[in-house]
This record gives sequence, C-alpha cells and structure tokens, in this order.
Amino acid sequence: MPPLHGSCLCQAIGYELDQLDMPISHCHCHTCRKAHGAAFASTAGVMREHFRWIKGADLLSSFQSSPGKRRHFCSRCGSQLMAERLAQPHVIVRVATLDDDPGLRPQAHIWTAHDVPWLAYADVEEWDEWPT
Ligand SMILES: [Zn+2]
Ligand SMILES: [Zn+2]
Repeated sequence: MPPLHGSCLCQAIGYELDQLDMPISHCHCHTCRKAHGAAFASTAGVMREHFRWIKGADLLSSFQSSPGKRRHFCSRCGSQLMAERLAQPHVIVRVATLDDDPGLRPQAHIWTAHDVPWLAYADVEEWDEWPT
C-alpha cells in the first residue's frame, strides 16, 4: 500500500504514514476540545516507524497539554497534526489532517464524560454547503 499523506491548513507542513495502526476514535476530552477548537477530535495511533514528517518540520510548534503529552501543530496556520507521549512507541495522528482516505472508519467516541452540554446529533439539520 502506498503511504497516506497529511498536511496542515497552509500546506507548509506535510507528513506521511504507512498505515493507521490503531482504530480511529473521536476524542471528546477537554484538552483535545481546546487544542482543536472543536467538540471532538478524530485520532488514531500510528507506530513511530510508520510516521514521517516530509516537509516543513522546522515550522512545527508544540504544546505540552498534560504532563508528558506533547501536541504538535503548525506555527503558521495552527493545524493540530500529531500528539505524542515520548515514552510510547506510537504517535497519535489527527486524522482530519489526512489528505488521503485511510480506508478505516471510526470505531468509538472516547472521553464523552468531557462533552460540552451543547453537543447534539439528533434534530440537527444537515446541509451540503451553506443552508439555503
Ligand atoms: Zn500550516
Ligand atoms: Zn483527547
């Protein structure tokens, strides 16, 4: 299988990975919510040997959101790209920054105990683009 490619919003940073090694989860924890500015973040574990920065790595910035957990993002456009705990053999890719379809589909919502009270799925209208 050819590598999957991912990038930040401004395209300055690119990465590639050989495969997602763990299931896709939508993480609702409060640190993901704040970091991503979103109700939840779609994430999946990738073994370190399967993940590579391929351009713009000098533009990466990072923030330690809890002890030992470092979140890496583009210092120019702010896209959250990957998080890691240095002691772990895998990194946690922010799946929504992939430009290719990894083939897998999400298996779980995790940390829903941290959900914001306004998060709802039922009775929410859906539009392909702006509402008409
Ligand atoms: Zn960027
Ligand atoms: Zn999280």
